Amino acid sequence: MPLDGPEVLGPTPRDHSQAYWDPAVQTMDPEQLHGLQDRRLKELVARALGTPVPLFGRKLRSAGIESPEDFGGIADLHRIPLTVKQDLRDSEAELPPWGDYRFTSPRQAVRLGTSTGTTGDPTISIWTRRDLWIEYESAARTWWRFGHRPGMIVTHAHPAYLYGGGAMLSGAYEYFGFLNIWVPPPDTDELAEQGLRFWTKVKPDIPFMGFSTGRFFEVAAKLGIDPLDAGLEFKGLPGFGLGKGMPLMTAGAECYAYVGGPCGQSPGAHLCEDWAIVQAVDPETGREVPEGEWGNLVVTTLDRDNGLLRYDLEEACAVLRGPCECGETSIRALWGGRFKDLVAVQGKRFQPSELETALRQVGGVSEPTLEWQLVRPRPDQAGEPLVVRVERSEGSGADRLHDEDIASRCAAAIREALSITTTIELLDRGSIPRSGYKSSRVVDQ
Ligand SMILES: [Zn+2]
Repeated sequence: MPLDGPEVLGPTPRDHSQAYWDPAVQTMDPEQLHGLQDRRLKELVARALGTPVPLFGRKLRSAGIESPEDFGGIADLHRIPLTVKQDLRDSEAELPPWGDYRFTSPRQAVRLGTSTGTTGDPTISIWTRRDLWIEYESAARTWWRFGHRPGMIVTHAHPAYLYGGGAMLSGAYEYFGFLNIWVPPPDTDELAEQGLRFWTKVKPDIPFMGFSTGRFFEVAAKLGIDPLDAGLEFKGLPGFGLGKGMPLMTAGAECYAYVGGPCGQSPGAHLCEDWAIVQAVDPETGREVPEGEWGNLVVTTLDRDNGLLRYDLEEACAVLRGPCECGETSIRALWGGRFKDLVAVQGKRFQPSELETALRQVGGVSEPTLEWQLVRPRPDQAGEPLVVRVERSEGSGADRLHDEDIASRCAAAIREALSITTTIELLDRGSIPRSGYKSSRVVDQ
């Protein structure tokens, strides 16, 4: 798909009735796909050694891979040591600002973004036009699977500027052929109102706002705006709720923003295997765990200008290799959350999202949105009840008997789902800080 003139700034138009965005790749014979991966992986290793890319060169040499001839392709992939985010941070700290892990000069890139820094110092990602094109094509496969088509109106409220996520999402939407309405993240009620008022004028067909969706419902209720007038509707995405965990749709902007998408017929997300090798790895051995079991999400990107080799996102992933009825031939993967976010208490380990799912069942706390936090237990508190703070629903008064009833129902829902005991603190609406993007659900005291 060439990008060689102003009149072809996007992809070639497709027949809206065709089943896949890119049938040639999405239904490719698995053996042929494997061969393509193998070839591209060898190219990546040769480039890491030849460019050279010092960080990956050191990793390869430590595994005895001094030249491309020492590397046998996918069968040898487990030999290459994992690289984690801290390696990238250290590299940037030692050789600021870019570090020594880039495959191209930053001046060959056209876009830059930093990670959010929620789990440490942010690192810098760069994308060339080709890198962006791979992301946009990958995203297009997913949206086509969802039944979305060019000509639809889409909206989002992703953060922007140095954080590259918003530009990436907007770019991918526009490339696909959506009319893209980008409203500010609803950090304040005033900013949320800007988006809401605009949507009552131009109603989006696809109102997906990700993490900030709840904020818009909350502010709409305050302003007396009917969410339906603004096109806001909670619509489930296909494939969510199938199998354990969630479909693995992204490996983060720093690695591969649109690594896969669910088809809705089988658990997990179909992966873009032509552009990535995704593995669920036991970090102790570097080997893949058995199919369907949780391991570390390890991604090797293929055919990009700027790649990552055996990048361990320190998140949980499970790979599914069985054929899928939808006709796509790629393997699928599930996402089980960040290991860093796991909460350990009373001998159990769980993701905050599991606790949130349990609380959603409880009346009296989830209208118009569920707002909650848990207090991360110190190691010496691991046997004690977990402290969970929950806001009362709008208009639900601080009546003692009523509160006791709600609190005991919250505790029961959590006990049922996670087999842990809790101390529930009910708070007034608005007590927990709001965020226009990802809210902090886990706090220290
Ligand atoms: Zn499928």
